[in-house]
Amino acid sequence: MNGNLKLAVQKKGRLTDKSLELLRLCGLDIENYSERLVVSIRNFPLDILFLRDDDIPEYVQDGVADVGIVGENVIFEKQTEVKIQEKLGFGRCSLILAHPNDKELKEIGDLNGKTIATSYPRILKSFLDKNKLDAKLIELSGSVEIAPSLGVADLICDIVSTGNTLMMNKLKKSFKVFDSEAVLISSEKEFEDANKKVILNDILKRIRSVLTARTSKYLMMNIPKDSLEKVVRIIPALKSPTVLHLAEEHLLAVHAVIPAKTFWDIIDDLKAAGASGILLLPIENLIQ
Ligand code: ATP
Ligand code: MG
Repeated sequence: MNGNLKLAVQKKGRLTDKSLELLRLCGLDIENYSERLVVSIRNFPLDILFLRDDDIPEYVQDGVADVGIVGENVIFEKQTEVKIQEKLGFGRCSLILAHPNDKELKEIGDLNGKTIATSYPRILKSFLDKNKLDAKLIELSGSVEIAPSLGVADLICDIVSTGNTLMMNKLKKSFKVFDSEAVLISSEKEFEDANKKVILNDILKRIRSVLTARTSKYLMMNIPKDSLEKVVRIIPALKSPTVLHLAEEHLLAVHAVIPAKTFWDIIDDLKAAGASGILLLPIENLIQ
């Protein structure tokens, strides 16, 4: 026991690269991990444990790992008692019900009496119970999408992100059961080692800064002096914009941090207000 915070990450799968990328953006110097089970970080008191994603909620609940990065779908299916510390904005997907293209499913009540194949029996069962529906569940550990063509089930309940797998198997989405993304979890119990709490708060602070930076951009432009009031009204800045004088007397430079997705909505208004030399730059970290 070295006092380091133990963080469980998926060993090999859809969440692995994004989890490690996030940790690297937090300033963690992660060595080439290849096939190792545990990797210590040179410049931060953290050990990364590489595990199958199915095992992460339970290991965190039982304190084998202190924290973990895993999809919400896995947490709710495993019904473990863990606390979500932060949503991480990647690994987004939905658990949906789908049926063959040539069948009809008009309303949710049509699920009564149907057979549904899934790898998520617990989440599906609670969805059916909540909607007072009675369907037969068949639990499969993988390749759920082929169940209807094999005649094993009328519908499937499976994870999708783009919908390509559904299309390839001639299936059509009918109802959404659950939305999921990767989250950072900890045990519901307080850490016994107070120092681990300090380390967790430090890593959370860094993660939040990376996440806010990702959804923000740094906007720079020159404007005619007399448009200042108008331009400030257009910019959805997180904080009051910075205004700088330029060598050319009648111009000002305006800088502001804006939510990234608003840029294309305001660009025409900014131009109409006389803005020129508009630059939009990425932000690596943003401490609020
Ligand atoms: P493991 O070997 O660790 O058990 P796995 O095969 O169960 O891996 P992956 O397919 O790597 O899991 O998916 C990991 C997580 O990625 C899922 O639990 C889910 O939260 C998320 N995810 C995002 N998009 C998708 C998708 N299209 N299909 C499946 N999972 C997705
Ligand atoms: Mg798995």
